[in-house]
Amino acid sequence: MPVIYRCSHCGNVLYSFEKVGQDFYGLPTPSELSIKLGGKCSKCGNLLGRPKLDSIKVFTK
Ligand SMILES: [Zn+2]
Repeated sequence: MPVIYRCSHCGNVLYSFEKVGQDFYGLPTPSELSIKLGGKCSKCGNLLGRPKLDSIKVFTK
């Protein structure tokens, strides 16, 4: 199932991920995508938000 990230403001498709193996990195998290796009929507300039350290959870076995 494709995963599509859209701008919450204008609905512009920021990134669509069709399948595993599409690119080297796989499915980016929203915060990774935000960094990739320079932190804002290319169409309307809506700020996508900054990645926060507390949004990353680390699990160990
Ligand atoms: Zn937008």
